Amino acid sequence: MAGYKSPCNKVPIEDLIMALLSTTDFPFLIEKNEGFSHGRIDLHCHTHCSDGSLSPQTLIDRAVNYQIEVLAITDHDTVEGFNIAQDYILEKNIPIKLVSGIEISTAWQGFEIHIVGLNFDINNSTLQQLIASQQQAREQRAITIGEKLVSCGFPDAYHDAKKLAGTGTITRAHFAKVLYQQGHVGTMQKAFDQYLGKKGRNTQKAYVKPQWCSIEQAVEAIHVAGGSAVMAHPIRYDLSAKWLRRLIVHYKESQGDALEVVLPQMNPQQRQIMLNYCLEYNLHASTGSDFHHPNKWSDLGRNLILPDGAIPVWAMWE
Ligand code: AMP
Ligand code: MN
Ligand code: MN
Ligand code: MN
Repeated sequence: MAGYKSPCNKVPIEDLIMALLSTTDFPFLIEKNEGFSHGRIDLHCHTHCSDGSLSPQTLIDRAVNYQIEVLAITDHDTVEGFNIAQDYILEKNIPIKLVSGIEISTAWQGFEIHIVGLNFDINNSTLQQLIASQQQAREQRAITIGEKLVSCGFPDAYHDAKKLAGTGTITRAHFAKVLYQQGHVGTMQKAFDQYLGKKGRNTQKAYVKPQWCSIEQAVEAIHVAGGSAVMAHPIRYDLSAKWLRRLIVHYKESQGDALEVVLPQMNPQQRQIMLNYCLEYNLHASTGSDFHHPNKWSDLGRNLILPDGAIPVWAMWE
């Protein structure tokens, strides 16, 4: 394995199977570490290539410490972290299988729905075009957010947020951090509550409607690139049961492959509800921490076991 790099950035399935089989209790070996359970697979996390705080290299080091064997970096509308992390893994001969990943923002019925793509060719031209247009939409939205924040009395917010984002994807989290660091709000959450966010039909002062692609376009691009599409964190969209079902029906009609059934903060009942949707609509199940930065409540690979009966998304890669 050492030194091997597959031509299209996809993890050869044999490597994936070997990584998983090398644990004694496939697919999860639960370790007790500082009182927390750690699984060995995490298919949703962020680096400073978008709104995470760690570099891809530091993230990989952290994943090694948590004994993660299969990891997907899923930054917002970018795959920039993949090659950096993969080069580091090869250079240091680190025993982690890196699965290519992305989290694409989409628009559906006035909601922002995140679609995670996994195990695709990062150089695929259709996907690259979609990424370019999403980046353009992000830049345009950031400029308009900046203009609105000028009216709120923060003339340098756009400049400061761009500086914080560096060469990575600019997100509202960067604006939130700027407002927090400069003492204009007490927490980043308050920056969303008071300026950047939208709750139901209620938009805050610096909210700007984004021009994201549709769910169908995101799923299609992921498929054209040879990957699997996962609906990220279905429980976080603040939808009633009726609307969540509508979303899942639409997602299935759009050829979506899987739902994120497990996030660290979900309780067993919530996991079971998501699993039931998977079974009802014949969808695979994925799991990931949505790790952005070290904090008390969640970390890479923590508390990510799929419930019994779930068909894992990685079964599609066999
Ligand atoms: P964007 O994709 O540019 O809209 O940025 C949204 C990102 O901000 C999310 O991926 C989260 O990481 C972060 N975030 C933190 N708190 C909130 C919140 N209350 N609402 C939306 N996004 C939040
Ligand atoms: Mn984020
Ligand atoms: Mn998300
Ligand atoms: Mn995420």
